[in-house]
Amino acid sequence: MTDTCPACCRRRIPPCAERRRGNQIAHGYRCPGCGHQWATARQLPAYSDIHRRRAGRQTREAA
Ligand SMILES: [Zn+2]
Repeated sequence: MTDTCPACCRRRIPPCAERRRGNQIAHGYRCPGCGHQWATARQLPAYSDIHRRRAGRQTREAA
C-alpha cells in the first residue's frame, strides 16, 4: 500500500518496512525525493468490517 510524503507531497511511495502487531499493521516509509521518514498504522478489522457492511447493504438493496 503506497502513501504520500507529508513533507514534499510526493505520491505513490512504496513502504520500506512492514510491522504487524495483532490486528494493527504499520508501514514505514522513506521518501526518495526529500528523505523524509514516517510511519502509517492501520487497523485491519476496521477495513474488513466496512467491507462487510457495504456488501450487506448492497445485497439488501438488490433484493
Ligand atoms: Zn518527500
